[in-house]
Amino acid sequence: MTASKKDEGSFSPEALKEKYRLEREKRLRADGNAQYRDFSGIYEDFDKDPYVEPGFTRPALTEKIDVLIVGGGFGGMLTAVRLRQAGVESFRIVDKAGDFGGTWYWNRYPGAACDVESYIYMPLLEETGYMPTEKYAKAPEIFAHCQRIGRQFDLYKAALFQTQVEQLDWDEAARRWNITTHRGDRLAARFVVIAGGVMHKAKLPGIPGIETFKGHSFHTSRWDYAYTGGGPKGGMSRLADKRVGIIGTGATAVQAIPHLGASARQLYVFQRTPSGVGVRNNRPTDEAWVKTLGPGWQEERIRNFTALVSGREQDVDLVGDGWTYIFDDVASRLAKTPEEAAELRQLADFRKMEEIRARVAAIVKDPVTAEALKPYYNQMCKRPCFHDEYLETFNRPNVQLVDTDGKGVERITPTSVVVKGQEYEVDCLVYASGFEVASEYTRRLGFDIRGRGGKALRDSWANGPATLHGMHSRGYPNLLMFSPTQSGWAINFVHILGEQARHAAYIIERCLKRGVEAIEPSEQAQEQWWAEIVSRLHKGISFGGVDCTPGYLNNEGVRPPPSAIRYASFGGDTLAFIDVLRRWRNTDELSGLELTRGGEASNP
Ligand code: NDP
Repeated sequence: MTASKKDEGSFSPEALKEKYRLEREKRLRADGNAQYRDFSGIYEDFDKDPYVEPGFTRPALTEKIDVLIVGGGFGGMLTAVRLRQAGVESFRIVDKAGDFGGTWYWNRYPGAACDVESYIYMPLLEETGYMPTEKYAKAPEIFAHCQRIGRQFDLYKAALFQTQVEQLDWDEAARRWNITTHRGDRLAARFVVIAGGVMHKAKLPGIPGIETFKGHSFHTSRWDYAYTGGGPKGGMSRLADKRVGIIGTGATAVQAIPHLGASARQLYVFQRTPSGVGVRNNRPTDEAWVKTLGPGWQEERIRNFTALVSGREQDVDLVGDGWTYIFDDVASRLAKTPEEAAELRQLADFRKMEEIRARVAAIVKDPVTAEALKPYYNQMCKRPCFHDEYLETFNRPNVQLVDTDGKGVERITPTSVVVKGQEYEVDCLVYASGFEVASEYTRRLGFDIRGRGGKALRDSWANGPATLHGMHSRGYPNLLMFSPTQSGWAINFVHILGEQARHAAYIIERCLKRGVEAIEPSEQAQEQWWAEIVSRLHKGISFGGVDCTPGYLNNEGVRPPPSAIRYASFGGDTLAFIDVLRRWRNTDELSGLELTRGGEASNP
């Protein structure tokens, strides 16, 4: 798909293996995640919401509700929709943003778009009657869809925006969570669903001198259009006389750089590790195809994609894009032993990464720049990117790749970015430096959860989490958490969120209907679930890996402490995890949960 047949077989696996090892070693650093810093201190302004009018106030609320949902992104919205469909009306959705959308509220950088097909990524298309305009919809369209869901399912009346949860305390006598917010609200909720997202806490590189920079700077998740001009479609006219630097070349930067290149007088792209960038081939939605779709088409398409990218054989590839091409590896599926399968998989990976590298050489005219843009690692070591204008941008005379040879930016001065001793003067610095992923769950949440006996979740999980289905944890009754920890993980992440939302809504509706006031997983259920996770460790296809080039997917290449293993996800096959949840619901027994009705605990 991305390169011609003649490239096949023209590489030496041994030479590539050695090259990958050397490139990895250049990038390993002892400080791992500690190399990054958050927005606290002098960077607090970075975290200001640029999309709301300042000065919003409202009276504090005191309310008793059935459900509090933390997070108004897809996870929270889908939970609210499923609750409403199940007849549960007493809920609130709290989000620090000024509207629904989660990641699509915050990430409005130029060029932002979904990187899996919009027909499977944007949820509730059949229910809302909406069809995306393109195969890969742009951020404003996805954000508008979030608002559409909010309006159609009447979620706005339940929303508390620009509101941050400060603390959750379990009240054993009332069997409710007491929630306080920074707006002085006091909510008492029977259940709390935490759908706070995975990548919502932005990070900055801890580059020496970063705090001395006197020019303008911001993080991609808080794009400053007041400074750049233009909007998510580009056209940043105020950059026409500016020298702009962007630090980072991950999935965000790949989408933003073509627009910066088109708008800035001079663009410096500071690169530590190149992304692998395959063909995007975006196109408008085909009306004739839309007319062929029957009821249930979206669910079928979502499952077909997830099956293919989980390595399952399917009769048909409905999406047929760069993602399914990566996983199109019939040879290893036919292998007779796991060793043979692993070897064939590695060969297929080498071949496909050779295609990615050949694409760079074919597009980028300057051979030195082209060589620096070639990624040397296995495909799943970093999130694969797909873009049809990114590489071309480096042919522009006003765009310069400043490759740091794996070392990162050396220093920042009041006026410049320094790489290999050379100063690059910039007026504006854009940090495309990503989000905290590997930090502690409770740190990323940004608030404390105190369960039975006032015990903080961070203390209970000091030696690693213990859960049932990654959702419930003993000592924290009626708390339902969405995260990849001991839970499912999917390339099309909204697929998993949709299933977690269904699951949470089912449990809550059952409990409310049956007069169950508290649920909590038994020790035994947590142990059994952990045994299930262990039996699947390192199975199937996964992102990252200890031998990968460093990044957020492998704890920056630093071997984590043994307790970190307990943050593992359900290995390999996303659909298998979804089937576990579905089977569990089908028995209709809430098995593994201890139920409390009117003060009486029982094992169902
Ligand atoms: P990433 O963490 O992927 O990228 C951060 C970038 O900053 C990397 O290129 C990193 O280099 C670089 N960097 C960090 N420190 C330094 C330094 N000291 N000097 C120079 N460079 C440095 O963040 P993104 O925001 O790009 O993407 C995060 C995730 O968000 C994606 O993986 C994807 O899952 C999601 N996303 C999804 C999109 C979608 O379309 N749905 C679009 C965009 C993002 P290095 O690689 O060497 O660490």
